[in-house]
Amino acid sequence: GALLQLCDLCKSYETTDAVSGVSLAIARGEFVALVGASGSGKSTLLKTVNRLVEPTSGTVRFDGEPIANLPLAALRHRIGYVFQSIGLFPHMTVSENIAIGPRLVGEKLAARRVEKLLELVDLDPAMATRMPDELSGGQRQRVGVARALANEPQVLLMDEPFGALDPVTRDALGNRVRALHEKLGLTTVMVTHDMAEALLLADRVLVMEDGRIVADEAPQALLAGA
Ligand code: ADP
Ligand code: ADP
Repeated sequence: GALLQLCDLCKSYETTDAVSGVSLAIARGEFVALVGASGSGKSTLLKTVNRLVEPTSGTVRFDGEPIANLPLAALRHRIGYVFQSIGLFPHMTVSENIAIGPRLVGEKLAARRVEKLLELVDLDPAMATRMPDELSGGQRQRVGVARALANEPQVLLMDEPFGALDPVTRDALGNRVRALHEKLGLTTVMVTHDMAEALLLADRVLVMEDGRIVADEAPQALLAGA
């Protein structure tokens, strides 16, 4: 069955219906892009999957189990999350930022894990002792990806991970993430407002409009229909 399953999911804020009845199944190993205009509900939908947002109604299942039944720590172990920009703790080194997860299993193991994680995202091991404000935007986002992968999650969620980057950095990091998706056998969901990026990186493109999924296609099908 599907690794992630959303069933009639709704999220309303006081005056806004951000997500209105989304049902959707994501198979293990898929790379899904969630595309749509600003305010269409992409970020809210993504955040329901690791319970950064609690839905108003409807269910999210992880491997068949409603995530509301899972301890939050267990859920966040299985699902890594990359924030748009302010994801790093400014008073901690790169290493400390990444080790927030694996630190719990012992200092020595953590140091080795951090080295491995930096390598995965193509960052020099010497970066481990830097502070976030000493890094470029692209390097910071690489650290964000490394941290999201620290607990060896099955699922990687990314909210506009490359939005603030210049086009060259953006392409390089996009390709790296796609390669990691394949190498690590991840199930990846990426929010973006950039259709070109979605078509390039994803196996499946979901288009969101006013809280609903209005298209669900392979990139080739969207290109043929355009
Ligand atoms: P997107 O990621 O596509 O830009 P969002 O999920 O961020 O869309 O927002 C969907 C709608 O919900 C927007 O109208 C937004 O203003 C509203 N919204 C998002 N977060 C909140 C919040 N915490 N409180 C109130 N309204 C919110
Ligand atoms: P923006 O789109 O403005 O960059 P995000 O959607 O990325 O914002 O969410 C950033 C928020 O999440 C901030 O309040 C930040 O402090 C918080 N945050 C950052 N990293 C984590 C984390 N690993 N776990 C939980 N919350 C975090």
